Amino acid sequence: MAMMTTDNEKKQYDKMTQLALDVLSDYGFFHFPLDVFSLANKIGIQLIPYSILPVEQYMTLCHKHGMDLGFTISRLENGYIVYDTYYNDVDIREPAQRFTIAHEIKHVVSGDCHKKYLTESDEALANFFAKSLLAPQAIIIQEGLNSPEQYVERFHISRQSAEYYCLATENRKSVFGEKYLFDYEQEFLDKVRKYS
Ligand SMILES: [Zn+2]
Repeated sequence: MAMMTTDNEKKQYDKMTQLALDVLSDYGFFHFPLDVFSLANKIGIQLIPYSILPVEQYMTLCHKHGMDLGFTISRLENGYIVYDTYYNDVDIREPAQRFTIAHEIKHVVSGDCHKKYLTESDEALANFFAKSLLAPQAIIIQEGLNSPEQYVERFHISRQSAEYYCLATENRKSVFGEKYLFDYEQEFLDKVRKYS
């Protein structure tokens, strides 16, 4: 879907890139493909695959709008907030499961889980965050990756999201320059070098 983006929306997308790198840095995840399951656990998210649920519950979830891929519920346990992220591992391939979990991480770290309902824009930002978390543009640019195949191989993301994301990154390159990195991306790459 082609959409005109306003400056304000662009800023929100840049913030997603930053937030993703902050999460990776804060929890010390500098290896790619990202172990997104471990990252979620470290954040305090309990991952619950649909495959362990009773069939009726699974069927209900798959037919509920917005719950066919996954969702997160926050609850109090001994005075602490805990997050349960349910994700479809039954009829969804692993790269897409990884994407769902990365998407849900955004809802947790930015407090979306406590909102009454999420807007389309919240969901679009979570999708962009997920790509930035699984496949930081800083690394794509540093390593000179420029085809969806390379993205799939390097980051273990689905072919479909690799295609969209590659277009977005190539567009960014044409605006900012082939090798241009933002300060926070350079800082992240310094950490990658230091800790990997
Ligand atoms: Zn969502």
